[in-house]
Amino acid sequence: MKLYHAIEELQATGIVTAGISQRKGGVSRPPYTSLNLAEHVGDAANAVTANREILFQQADLKNLHYCRQIHSASVIDVDNGTGVTSEKPPEADALVSAHRGIALGIFTADCVPIFILDLSTPAIGIAHAGWRGTFARIAVNTLAQMKASFGTVATNCQIHLGPSIQKCCYTVSTELLDQFAERFGSTVHDGTNLSLQDANVNQLVEIGLSVTSISVSPFCTACRTDLFYSHRAEDGQTGRMLSFIQLNAEN
Ligand SMILES: [Zn+2]
Repeated sequence: MKLYHAIEELQATGIVTAGISQRKGGVSRPPYTSLNLAEHVGDAANAVTANREILFQQADLKNLHYCRQIHSASVIDVDNGTGVTSEKPPEADALVSAHRGIALGIFTADCVPIFILDLSTPAIGIAHAGWRGTFARIAVNTLAQMKASFGTVATNCQIHLGPSIQKCCYTVSTELLDQFAERFGSTVHDGTNLSLQDANVNQLVEIGLSVTSISVSPFCTACRTDLFYSHRAEDGQTGRMLSFIQLNAEN
């Protein structure tokens, strides 16, 4: 059984393995049925461990680095020795690396997973962008950290926004809509519903990226709870997908 949805737009470069886990094929019981990858949602620890083992084996992930996500706009450079371990992950919402064979991961269930590939260095980044992270421009921050760490030039990057809640299902308060419209332009909402995807695309275009270098998944997590977890569609009681990206070993 296929446990993850590959990000073909990035994998086609041959440089990376990138994907997002789907919800079927794991061992977790309701409401986490069944491939929950996150420890912090109340699922049985042994189920999460077993789920990670089967996913890591299928996706060939050996060395996953992740963080304790706090809806911030903070970025960790995994290569600078801050020591990202599974026992005590540091607080942040994005990770960057230029090492081959290191996988970066973030957990989501509606929030936007943002995959970044710097084709020329090469280097990678991944970010967790809910409304708070999106509003605080975490995608731009992640590119800024990649520039500081690896000399990444944003216009050499290819970016993918993975499965996440889309405008069809994301009704928010008028106050929030107004704040987003003011910061990212009125096209990010339709009067009642917000597009986190558009807000992220707009902030990337604002710093010089071409829309052709940014791809957006067609999947809305709230519409497709058959495939993915949705925090909003499942009233907060559900599992988390793992989005991952890893620089492949040189051939
Ligand atoms: Zn939807």
